[in-house]
Parts: sequence; C-alpha cells; structure tokens
Amino acid sequence: MSERAFPVVFAGHVDHGKSTLVARLVLDTGGFPDGRLDELRRASERRGVPLELSFLLDAFQVERDQAVTIDASRVWFRSPQRRYEVIDAPGHREFVRHAVSAAGDARAAVLVVDAREGVSEQTRRHALLLPLLGVRDAIVVVNKMDAVDFARERFDAVAGEARTLAQRTGLELRAIVPAVARDGDGVVARGARMPWHEGPTLLEALDALPEARRDRDVPMRLPVQDVYRRDEVRIAVGTVDEGVLRAGDDVVILPSGEGSHVEELIAFPAAPERAPAGTAIGVRLRGVPFVRPGDVLADPAAVPAIAEALDVTVFWLGEERLAAGDFAQMRCGTRDTGVVVERIDARIDVATGERVAAEALERNEVYEVRLRCTEPAIVETRPASSLGRFALYRGDAIGGGGLVRAVVNRRARRSSPNVAAQRSGVDAERRAARWGHRGAVVWLTGLPSAGKSTLARELEAALFAAGWNTYVLDGDTVRTGLNGDLGFSAEDRRENVRRVGEVAGLFADSGAIAIVALVSPNAADRDAARAVVPGRFHEVYVRADRATCEARDAKGLYRRAHAGEIADFTGVTAPYEPPAAPELVVDTARRPVEDCAAELVAYVRRVAANDAAPAGAPAVSR
Ligand code: GDP
Repeated sequence: MSERAFPVVFAGHVDHGKSTLVARLVLDTGGFPDGRLDELRRASERRGVPLELSFLLDAFQVERDQAVTIDASRVWFRSPQRRYEVIDAPGHREFVRHAVSAAGDARAAVLVVDAREGVSEQTRRHALLLPLLGVRDAIVVVNKMDAVDFARERFDAVAGEARTLAQRTGLELRAIVPAVARDGDGVVARGARMPWHEGPTLLEALDALPEARRDRDVPMRLPVQDVYRRDEVRIAVGTVDEGVLRAGDDVVILPSGEGSHVEELIAFPAAPERAPAGTAIGVRLRGVPFVRPGDVLADPAAVPAIAEALDVTVFWLGEERLAAGDFAQMRCGTRDTGVVVERIDARIDVATGERVAAEALERNEVYEVRLRCTEPAIVETRPASSLGRFALYRGDAIGGGGLVRAVVNRRARRSSPNVAAQRSGVDAERRAARWGHRGAVVWLTGLPSAGKSTLARELEAALFAAGWNTYVLDGDTVRTGLNGDLGFSAEDRRENVRRVGEVAGLFADSGAIAIVALVSPNAADRDAARAVVPGRFHEVYVRADRATCEARDAKGLYRRAHAGEIADFTGVTAPYEPPAAPELVVDTARRPVEDCAAELVAYVRRVAANDAAPAGAPAVSR
C-alpha cells in the first residue's frame, strides 16, 4: 500500500512566488529527474528569457498529464520525514467545493508573502477561507528576501502583519520563514545570506507539523453516502470522517438517534477489523435499522449536534445576493438540508477584519449569518471535522461555503408556553449612550490554573477604572450561591454553564460588560452560552498547557486530583475541549500575565466601544 501523503495547501497573492516556491521544494528534495534544470537553463538562454523555476513544474505537469489522466494537477515532494502532497491554492469556487469533499482536506497551509509588499488583501482572503479546507496550522513564507536586501527589519515587520492576521482568522502560526524561493535560501537549504534567522527552514517547519489527529482523540463519525439493502441486511457505505470505526462497535444513527451495532466492516479485497479516518468502508449493521444516505453513524459516547438553527460564517460567491428570508440548500457531510437566512449579523471586512452591518450577502464577501434549518442538520463546531463545514447551493449552482460557529437550538423549556420575555422600555442604544460602551459577555475559558480568574480581575479593574460598567462572574463564586446546588457530574457542569450564560446575558442586556471566568470544558455548552447573546459574546481562550497549570496549581487541586481525592477533574480525569474559533487567545504559559491582561483589555475596549461596528446586537433589550 502506498504511504499516504501529508496534504499541504499553498496559497498567496498572485506573483508573490508560490509556483517558484513549490518548484524549489520539489527541485531541492530531488523530485525532478536529473538534468531537467540544466535543460531548462539552456532553453531559457536560447530564448533569451530569464530562468523561471516554475516552468520546471509546468513542464513536469504536462508530461504527467500525458501519462496519467487522474489528479494530473497534483504535485508531490518528500522530506526525510514524510511525503507531501501539494494542493494548489484553489480559486474561490474550488475552496468552497473542497469544503465539502473530505478528499480535499489539507492538514496545513503555506502562505507565501512577498517581502516587499507584505500581507495583501488576497492573502487575508485566503487566510479567512483556509478553515474551509479544514486547515488550522499555517506556515508563512516571507519570500523574495533578496529584493529587500535580506533586511531583518523588513522580515520582522511582515512577520508582525502575519501574526495579526493569524490571530484574527484563528489560524495557528507554526513558523514564519524568510526565504528566496528563486535561489533556494530558507527553503530546503539554509543558505548563508540570512544568518540572523534562527528559526527553521520551510522544509524543517513542514516536518515539525503535527501528524493528523483525525483518527485519534476524537469520536468516530461516518457520514453515510449510500445504503444497500438486501432482505434483512443493511449496509451503510461512506468514508470515516474522524475517529476509528471497528467491527463490533456500537453506533448511533443520526438524526433518528437509533442505536445499532457494527456486525462487520466490508472492503475489497479483505474485511478489515478497523477503519481509521479517511477509509472508505461498508458497514453491515445489526438488525434492520432505518438508515439513509445523509445520515451519520456516530460514537454513542459523544454524538455530533443536531441543529435547528446555526450561527455560521459564510463566504458568498453567488451571482445573486442572498437576503434575510431567502432559501438555500446546505450540503454538510453527505447531507442536504434546506436553510433559510434568518438574519445577517455582519459582514467581515476582509481588509481590516472588522465586522460591519450588512443588508444582504454580496458576491465574494464574508458574512456572519444565522441560518434556520428546514430539517435537522448534523454538525460539529470544529472546522477540522467535515461536519463543521458546508456548501450552500441555489439550484445547481454553488452559492457559497462556510463554517459552523455555533448551534442555536431553542432549549427545551419546561415553563408554560404563556410565559414570554418582556421587552424593556429602555433600549440598547440608550443604555450604550449612558455607559459609553455596549453590553457584552467576555467568556474566559481554559484549564484550571490557566489564569482565568486573575485575568478576569485585571480586566474588571482596568475597565472599571476607565468608567465602564462591568462585573466578574467567577465560577467558584457562583458555585457558592446561585449554583450551590450543583455538583460536577456532566449534567451539573452543563447546567452550571447554562445558568452562568443566562445571567451573563442579562448583565449584557443591562449594558454591562459581564466577565465570566469559568473552566467550561465543553464546546457545546459554551456555544449555548454564545447563543444567549448572539454577536455580543466574546470567547477568550486562556491558554496554558497542562504541565504549566499543574506546576502553578493555584488551589492545590491538581495534586488532590492526582491523589484521587477529586473525581472528574478537568485536565486530569475529565476532558477539556479547547475552543475551535475563539475571538481571542491569550497564552499565559508563554507570556507574562501583565501582557495578557493588557491585550485582553485592549480587545474588549475595541469591540465594545460605543463606536465599534454593530455586532448584530438586537436594538431592543429582551
Ligand atoms: P505565483 O504567482 O505566486 O505562483 O508567483 P511565481 O512563482 O510565478 O513568481 C512570480 C515572480 O516572482 C516570478 O517572476 C519569479 O521569478 C519571481 N520570484 C519568485 N521567487 C522569488 C524570489 O525569491 N526572489 C525574487 N527576486 N523573485 C522571485
């Protein structure tokens, strides 16, 4: 069996040197037949044109096109570590098409930036769209360093732009590499012209990228492509999207929720015992369950969400505008669901990253939108999952693609249907005018001892000193009163988060900045809290690795958890799901707490300032 290549998408502004860089990688890793470069050099001299490395790639592809007809546009190269597959920066339409085909999954992106021009609008647009391919990790190559005399200052300036961009788009920057793709410096060989660069070369940075995690640490999902029925036998066919499916596993069929059991995995030529993510497989199910194409087989221990409505980020490329009330077809995994645009919360200005008010979805722009599903959708809120991404169709044409940010289901309410929220006589505008800022929820999540409470207090003090109306809802404090009746079972934790989310929402409605410091380990629970105050919820991931948190152990809880004195302790015996797309990440393990606090304060002042772009907040308080 051939080794599976590690797919990396190469993107960047036209002419910043992407093709040259790819050609250089292939050349310097020995991927071109011997003598090919000399041939090209001679041909260029004969014609009196400068040598263009990227021609090497073109010639190579033409040759292969004639030999093989499938996937002819694909390029591979190999390092001592592993084989890579180059996915060329797709056009907008391809981005969206890739979004729904697991085959297009890229593990990481290389963003090429011309050192002279820096991060361009096209670079920003690509960075915004990369999550549509399931990409989290990115390497930025600052190319054409020769054209800026190998100036370290210029590299630092572009690196700064790249960091800002990454922070805004949720991309994880793994390395920023100065390079001369044309000559090879910093690509595979280090070269002697940038001795000041202590970081990795591009190939070293690629080799340092983490291996796929899609078949480990994540529950199994299999979107069903097809179903074969023979008498009393049901065989569901599809590609395992995440996790591992094994013969003998129990599964749940969604959306019905019916349980079943994997009697046998079916593949040609042999029936395997296990099918990791990426495997196309037939699954013979026990009994005669009701299963249809578009359903999802899932690990019963953790099922994806079934959504009535979704908060999504949409990249729209339809010819026609899409307005509130308009209908579209959504394809997510193998499932098609009708959706209606319930409301448009904001357009994301690609150049600045700001959220601005929008009436309708216009071609080639990015929006935050709420979609109501006409039938249940099965989704995840992680872009790495193909259930976290979707394409929108109108008729047969692709209208756009997007990412699921949050699931917004009306919670099952036990109170009487005669109870309805009262409208306040004081609207949000007047409150904002009084306080000089808008109400918001700033939700700090992270492992115990990550620094949430400290940062919450610092933020509160700084805002208060500036005359803002603000209050901290601290997890521990709330558990001494409002939530004193709750323990730490999964159900109680969820209820704990739900109540704090509701209370924080009321604070935000009153015009205050509610600062929540709560471990809140489950992404779905945080999403539910977000749904209470759409557009005014700011998830801040207070990040610190477990070792750092354990070393701090502010309350001695890790020690007690290890001693077995505390059951279900997050980070030790209970899981923590880091946010997939937080509004802000502060890394307390790597940076001093004062810096983190300053960054947090600046962020909140920016997003909640009275003149900040409206963030889809309703004009009338609940
Ligand atoms: P793409 O559109 O991003 O694929 O860019 P190309 O790879 O076609 O490169 C655009 C132009 O930039 C070509 O003329 C290249 O020769 C040139 N170029 C690429 N890399 C470098 C570099 O490192 N230094 C300089 N000075 N020029 C480069």
